[in-house]
Amino acid sequence: MSSAIGKRVWIAGDRGMLGSALVRRMAGEGSQLISAERAELDFRRQAEVEAFLQRQRPDVVVVAAGTVGGIAANAAYPADFLQDNLLIAANIIGAAHAADVQRLLYVSSSCSYPKCAAQPIVEDALLSGPLEPTNEAYATAKIAGVQLTRAYHTQHGRDYFVAVPTNLYGPGDRFDLERGHVLAALMRKAHEAKRSGHTEIVVWGSGMPLREFLHVDDCADALIHLLMHYRGGGEFNVGSGEEISILELAQTICEVVGFRGHITHDRSKPDGTRRKLLDCSRLQALGWEPRISFREGVQQTYRWYLDHMVEEP
Ligand code: GDP
Repeated sequence: MSSAIGKRVWIAGDRGMLGSALVRRMAGEGSQLISAERAELDFRRQAEVEAFLQRQRPDVVVVAAGTVGGIAANAAYPADFLQDNLLIAANIIGAAHAADVQRLLYVSSSCSYPKCAAQPIVEDALLSGPLEPTNEAYATAKIAGVQLTRAYHTQHGRDYFVAVPTNLYGPGDRFDLERGHVLAALMRKAHEAKRSGHTEIVVWGSGMPLREFLHVDDCADALIHLLMHYRGGGEFNVGSGEEISILELAQTICEVVGFRGHITHDRSKPDGTRRKLLDCSRLQALGWEPRISFREGVQQTYRWYLDHMVEEP
């Protein structure tokens, strides 16, 4: 059966949170999904990526791979975040062109926009000002990936384009207290505090920053929508329009988890950027809207966490 997406599709990063959501979303769409064993293919090694793409010859590539983490991981491992993500972008995009892949979707991040961008942030704000220092290394690599995607479109006429998701959460997130993103880390803190009878959880920073959260299944749906309905280059923001403060986020998570203790703040930890809300009119003009409300998404994510976590003794 042929598909509106492509006959042979490779989702680079298909074991990650977004990649696995894309695999779930593509079931029944009629595309053959190509996959690689982790031992066979390290995206940071150019020769391995080239050999894989020459052998597999997909019609469509989605670059959903990356070295990712929350605000503390970005501060602790800037070399890894910059180097890994530069190599992943350069190796996959270059090898896709060499293997005559006509369509490619590169997944960037809302942190690639300037710290002081006007809100809601439009796609054209890219490279219009200095970056937020707490994730500068990761953002720099993502900007290079966007520029490379644009360059292959401009120089070679490839239909290579970019999706720029806001903060994602959902099944497959990393529930790690040090390296994880805020929603997963706070969910684990609230769950463990409830389980062990503690009376408080600690929220990093002031609790004042605003963040927009999008369920990963909604993000996967938006990306598939773009692959079905769009040909060309350019960038598309992918957000929910639902913006809440970190404190409101912590309160919602405590309610969903059923933790009734206090929330305290560790102000020695950074707040990061004050706000990063995306303007998604370009994507909306193609007829896409999110479906999962924030509360429903948090409830579903907590059920997933309960089913998949490994309890410490
Ligand atoms: P960011 O959105 O790129 O800044 O990254 P995060 O997903 O790590 O979110 C960071 C925001 O949540 C910052 O304002 C943090 O101060 C705040 N935050 C509060 N508690 C936590 C926590 O336990 N873990 C993380 N990662 N961030 C927290």
